[in-house]
Formats: sequence, C-alpha cells, structure tokens
Amino acid sequence: MPKPDYAIDEMISAKAIAARIEALAREIRGEFRDTGQLIVVGLLRGSFVFIADLVRELDLPVEVDFLEASSYGNSMESSREVRILKDLRGEIGGRDVLVVEDIVDTGHTLARVTEYLATRAPARLRTIALLDKPARREVDFKADWTGFEIPDEFVVGYGIDYAQRNRNLPFIGKVRFTGDDA
Ligand code: 5GP
Ligand code: MG
Ligand code: MG
Repeated sequence: MPKPDYAIDEMISAKAIAARIEALAREIRGEFRDTGQLIVVGLLRGSFVFIADLVRELDLPVEVDFLEASSYGNSMESSREVRILKDLRGEIGGRDVLVVEDIVDTGHTLARVTEYLATRAPARLRTIALLDKPARREVDFKADWTGFEIPDEFVVGYGIDYAQRNRNLPFIGKVRFTGDDA
C-alpha cells in the first residue's frame, strides 16, 4: 500500500454539525411555515450528506431535486465560468426553492446558480451553505443561512471530497499535506 501523502485533522465534529443543522432547520421551518411545497435543491455532489440530514429535520412538505454545476477558469481571474452540467428535473416557477450547497468559497457558483434559477421566477429563492470561507470571496454573495464560518483551509468529509475520496467521513476535517512537497 502506498503511504498517503496527507492526513486529516478534525475541524468540526459530527455532533457539532448535527446540533447546528437542528438550529438551522428551526429557522428554515419558520421562514417557509406557510409554504405549499418547498423544493430543496442540492448542488451535486458535495451537498448530498448535508441535504439528507437537513431535509429530515424539516417538518414541511418537501420535494428534493438536484443540480450540478462546474466552474472552470484560471483561479487568478476573478471571473470564472460556471456551467450547468445537470439541470433540475422539476419546474420551480411560482414555487418555493431552497438551494443547498456544501461550501461558499469565491462565491461564483452560488451567485451564478441563483441568477440562473431566478430566471424561472420561483416564488421564494433562498440559499443555505454548510460552510463559508469569507476570506476567499471574489464576488459579493451571501447565503441566507450558513452553518459554520471557517478559515481558508482545504476541507473534506461530510459529503466533501479530496480527489473523490473522504466524502464518507462523518465529520469535517482539514487536509494536512505530509509528503515531501508539503
Ligand atoms: P465557489 O464558491 O468558489 O464558486 O465554489 C464553491 C465550491 O468549491 C464548493 O462547492 C466546493 O466544491 C469547492 N470547494 C471550496 N472549498 C473547498 C474545500 O475546502 N474543499 C473541497 N473539497 N472543495 C472546496
Ligand atoms: Mg461544490
Ligand atoms: Mg469537489
């Protein structure tokens, strides 16, 4: 077995995540108390664990849909292209929508995704991100709800990957490189 060239240090425990989601769900239930049907839209793939836990705390009539966006472009440039790789299956016109994201980093992804979804005229369009790295922001975007503000560190776990691995960790961890080029 090759030796892994990184270690993962726990940053946010599974217990802390669960407690935060309970509190967020109370606020979201308040906001959408009167909804006919709330469409909860997960951004693939990093939000899949968060959306699963969040919807189970929402005592509301809920539908679940998914959208996949991918961003390309030179990280040195502040304007990145965000492409929709997989669109929603259902209609959102006139309906309440909550977009669920794993991390707001530069802000480009959620800024573009909400701009795109807004063209379909949903009744209410709100966003929630489990993690927020405000220090990395390139465009002015603020999610309506945020789980935790974190420093500029590369994180994994709870749905979030490093090269498609570590999504199944129950906590959020910080990647610490340990190889020769660390
Ligand atoms: P942005 O806000 O820059 O458009 O992009 C946010 C996306 O960048 C997140 O959905 C996530 O896919 C990715 N990202 C940002 N920070 C991290 C991180 O620390 N770890 C991982 N695995 N992905 C990240
Ligand atoms: Mg993502
Ligand atoms: Mg990723």
